[in-house]
Amino acid sequence: MKLFLAVLFCLTAFSFCFSQSLNDRSRDLRSAGVAHDSAYYLLRPDRVFDGEQLHEGWVVLIHANLIVAAGPAATVKAPAGTVDYPLSGMTLLPGLIEGHSHLFLHPYNEVSWNDQVLKESRAERTARATVHARKMLEAGFTTTRDLGTEGAMYDDVGLKQAIEKGVIPGPRMLTATRAIVATGSYGPKLNVDQESPHGAAEADGKEGLTKEIRMQIGKGADIIKIYVDYRWGINNTAAATFTEEELKTAVEVAASAGRPVAVHSSTTEGMRRAIAAGVSTIEHGEGGTLELFAAMKAKGIALCPTLAAGDAIAQYRGWRKGIDPEPQSIKDKRASFRQALASGVTICMGGDVGVFAHGDNAREMEMMADYGMKPLEVLRSATSVNADVFRIADKVGRIRPGLAADILVVEGNPAATISAIRKVQLVMKDGVVYVDRGMPLSAGQ
Ligand SMILES: [Zn+2]
Repeated sequence: MKLFLAVLFCLTAFSFCFSQSLNDRSRDLRSAGVAHDSAYYLLRPDRVFDGEQLHEGWVVLIHANLIVAAGPAATVKAPAGTVDYPLSGMTLLPGLIEGHSHLFLHPYNEVSWNDQVLKESRAERTARATVHARKMLEAGFTTTRDLGTEGAMYDDVGLKQAIEKGVIPGPRMLTATRAIVATGSYGPKLNVDQESPHGAAEADGKEGLTKEIRMQIGKGADIIKIYVDYRWGINNTAAATFTEEELKTAVEVAASAGRPVAVHSSTTEGMRRAIAAGVSTIEHGEGGTLELFAAMKAKGIALCPTLAAGDAIAQYRGWRKGIDPEPQSIKDKRASFRQALASGVTICMGGDVGVFAHGDNAREMEMMADYGMKPLEVLRSATSVNADVFRIADKVGRIRPGLAADILVVEGNPAATISAIRKVQLVMKDGVVYVDRGMPLSAGQ
């Protein structure tokens, strides 16, 4: 009993101190876990990136969980008693949207994918996922499209619910649950005699796919993730898996329930079938050609190139970046990305984070710029473009009245130097502050 009281006291004292220090640091802004009050807040950075354009001298008015006004300072009428929040030297942006994450994975140089799926318990994987979610949010990514739990069943749905209920901090989540693979095409693989746990759900044919997709939607899938090709068979050669007919069935069944289909594809034939089937996004896209990218553009299919995943894996295999010459895989990816840019296909920002460390999501944005995309285009990709492609533009992705107060403030100007996106000063999701690094306030504040 004594022990219990001591623990209770410590917990109470800790939470008191914690909320006090947050309140002190964030001054007038609401802190994490504190209910919305009736005040209005006027954020005055040097510039605002509204999801599409950069505007010098704009201000943003926030009330409760919403953006209520944004525009040139002279045009925004703040009610009496509005709390003024100058952000000198800063850029304000919509909270960033990660387009391709795996919150239930951690970097493969820590533990291989096989061993994560085979040897880590679901409890351990969930515990890790809660930490990953916090890190992602603290890096300014207020929304994520999480493309499969890789063996952790439907646990992404519970994670999302815990975040929505305010139990743990984390981004808004779009969930894919288990992802779908053709029988025999996915790992982990032990030997031919042994059945191993699966990293995804196996389903085939019209009936099998229909049933699996409907079950996943019933369990909470916002998106259907399908592997249209994979390194398959004992020679580990990448080959297409599902037939075009199967993919058409999958798209039709998902669409009838209002769910988009995102596909993993690294082969030309896999991409061709996915495009013919009318999927929503193609992930990775190493098999892309100018013709295929043009066909994607014509059908409104977006490409999520996941540059950072390839970069990370090449380094895990021994490439010393900056010292050794670039391996062929990196050269090919650069060329492929340039072709995608030239084709005009819509490009999502999504790094396949989980392959590399959660919280390091900006790595993909830096690589997109390094591989030839203008920083302003990268910022669009990570905000308004992702919101449009993921069908969530009615809530997030732009600084616009009526949208959720999902806000990132960074030091410097990421439209000039993309790596400024890492200089996080303030992160707000749904009007609640999760990061506030104590920005300098003007005299008298
Ligand atoms: Zn992935």
